Formats: sequence, structure tokens, C-alpha cells
Amino acid sequence: MKVLVVNCGSSSVKYQLLNMKDESVMARGLAERVGIDGSRLKHQAQGKSEVIIEKAMPDHKAALKIITDVLVDEKNGVIKDTKEIAAVGHRVVHGGEKFSGSVKITDEVMETLRECSDLAPLHNPPNIMGIEACRQLMPGIPMAGTFDTAFHHTIPDYAYIYPLPYEYYKKYGVRKYGFHGTSHKYVAEKAAQVLGIPVEKLKIITCHLGNGASITAVDGGKSVETSMGFTPLEGLAMGTRCGSIDPAITAFIVEKEKMTAEQVNNMLNKRSGVLGISGISSDFRDLEQAAQKGDKRAQLAIDVFAYKVRKFIGSYSAVMNGVDVIVFTAGLGENSISMREKICRGFEYLGLELDVHANNVRGKATIISKPNSKVKAMVVPTNEELMIARDTVRIIG
Ligand code: AMP
Repeated sequence: MKVLVVNCGSSSVKYQLLNMKDESVMARGLAERVGIDGSRLKHQAQGKSEVIIEKAMPDHKAALKIITDVLVDEKNGVIKDTKEIAAVGHRVVHGGEKFSGSVKITDEVMETLRECSDLAPLHNPPNIMGIEACRQLMPGIPMAGTFDTAFHHTIPDYAYIYPLPYEYYKKYGVRKYGFHGTSHKYVAEKAAQVLGIPVEKLKIITCHLGNGASITAVDGGKSVETSMGFTPLEGLAMGTRCGSIDPAITAFIVEKEKMTAEQVNNMLNKRSGVLGISGISSDFRDLEQAAQKGDKRAQLAIDVFAYKVRKFIGSYSAVMNGVDVIVFTAGLGENSISMREKICRGFEYLGLELDVHANNVRGKATIISKPNSKVKAMVVPTNEELMIARDTVRIIG
């Protein structure tokens, strides 16, 4: 069974075609600058070199047409006809309170997704456009949707209700939803598998540290708390997002800088985080380089980031009355040896002893704590596409 996984962002379409017989990736790629001048597609078929196709992609449908064409292309393709695709799995950012797991896409589901757009105005509309385009381009092929929010449906009400007038929850759905759920679920289950212990028996803290970053407390395989909230702005300091701050700062800056709501939202999402502190970059590779050369603000940005991660790890071990495993994943979590070391240093009280030699690893599922460490630390590369493909197979059958 071949499954196409589609992940539509506001100006991009990421895809993978997987052969679910052995879960191998037959082809993968990324369409960039969709709806903007200079759109291009990077496509790589298994065993072949990457090709770049520069073609106008005025919208997501045009991008997906070029993607489906290259998949069946004689030279760069991997299938003869799109009819070989048994199902399409779509990543959808926000499922609101309606979806607690992946679902088969129907007209009714599409209607509910449109209702959820209010909660994720930047993310859900491109997801919906991608589904609609695929339905037109591949009529009759069943499709499923996997939600970033779904894994966090098990968070209890006392963790997801904000201490605001309750009517905003009832009227507008203002509550914590959490994001990156597919990634947190995947790495928690994979960590348990690597350790050879059922996930139901473990208390795991999963740290998804990429450009967007979030931490989840996974107790017995279920999410019980997560750092992102009503939007993906809450929680950790991130590449360009501020994470949790005193909410009164927003009104203060609005007044001082004479900003509109949109401008302040833009500042908190795009000009804050480690970019805002350092004034250099949102990319930790640039920050590590600058800090090594003595840049104090780059060092401060790294220190702030690590400090926040440590605070969440401490509080989530309190949430679960202990922790057995701490997992690092995503771009920074999988690749930054120095950041993992900085985060894990001084956690001996918790029962974690990092093995600095084992920690010298990038992008490979590895135990990085000492063999006798009570709490295990691990690197587990995330694989959201595989998770979506597995869910799609389960749902479509
Ligand atoms: P993601 O959003 O998961 O793709 O992660 C992207 C981020 O991971 C980048 O912005 C970098 O900050 C970080 N990253 C990726 N590779 C490295 C590396 N080798 N060392 C430090 N940070 C890295």
C-alpha cells in the first residue's frame, strides 16, 4: 500500500510517498514560495539525485499538480499512475475540541475543519486548500487528516483551562490545545520501543526543540501537559517566538510603540525568541558560532532557551510525580550536542546522569545517559510523516 503524506504550509507543500509494506520512503520533496514569485520544487526519488523544478505555483493546487506530475514522471518519478496511491494522509494543524485522533476526510469533516480555522487562521486554511486540491487532482482516492492537537486531547481540564473569565472558553474556545502532537506521540512510543518497556509503564518528557519548540509530559503513553497553548506561541522561548511572558507586556508595548493588534502579534511571533534576544539569528548554529566568538547576546539567547527547557522539565516531573525518560527531538534536539549537555547539566537531583560520550551523536536514536542513570535521556529523531502514514493506513484500511 502506497501512501502520500501531504503537509501544506502557508507558502509551502512538503510531501513524502511511502511504501507501507516496509515503511520505506519512495520519494520526498518540498514546494517552496507557493503563491509568491520564484516558486520551485525540490524533489528526490529514492536512489536518484535531487531535482529542482522551477515553475510558477500560484496556489496550492498548482503546486500539488506539479508534485503529482513529477511522481509519475518517467525520469524522476517512482510510480506509473497516481491510481497506485492507495490513500493520502494530510497534516492538519488544528482539530479544536472536535478531533481526538486522525479521521477519514469527508464533506462533514471538511465543514468542521473550516469551523476550526478561526482558531488557527494562519495554519488551517492552507491545510484545507491542500486537501481540496488533492480531492480534485486524485478523485476517488481516500484521504485522512492527522491533527497536531489530537494527541493532547487527554490533558485534564485543570491543565487546559486558563484562569480567564470562563465565558471566553465557552464562547470562543479559548483554552490550551497544544501542538506538535504527532511528533511527541511518535518519539514517546519510539523511546519506549528502544528501551523495550511498554509506553503504558513510562513517565516520559518529550522535548521537541526545533525552530518551533514544545515540551510534553507523556504519562503512560498519554499527553497530560504540554507547553504550547491556545496557539503555538505559548511555552518555551523559540527561534522567533517569545513563548510565555507576562501578558501585561503586550498592552504596555502596544501603547508605547503605538502598535496595532496585528503588529504586536507579528512582533511576538516573528521578531522575538532567540532572534529577538540575540539580534543575530533564529538559528542555533549561527548563535553557537557567534557565542564562541564572544557575542554576549548570542550567549544570553542560548542561556535563556536552555533555562526555560530546564524549568519545564522540572515542572513536568512534578506534574507526573516523577520521570523515567527525557527525550530530545527535532532540529536542535537531535543535533545540538552542546544544547543537550547544557539542558541536562545539574539534573543529578532528578536522577539523571548524562553520558557525555554517548551524547556525542546527531540524528540517531540513542540513549545518552549513563547506564546506571535512574532517569534515561535519549535522542530520538522525529518522523511525523511516518506517523501520519501509519494513521492513514489504520483509518483507510
Ligand atoms: P526544525 O524546526 O526541527 O527543522 O529545526 C530547525 C532548527 O534546528 C534550526 O533553526 C537550528 O536552530 C537547529 N539545528 C539544526 N541543526 C543543528 C545543529 N547541527 N546544531 C545546532 N542547531 C541545529
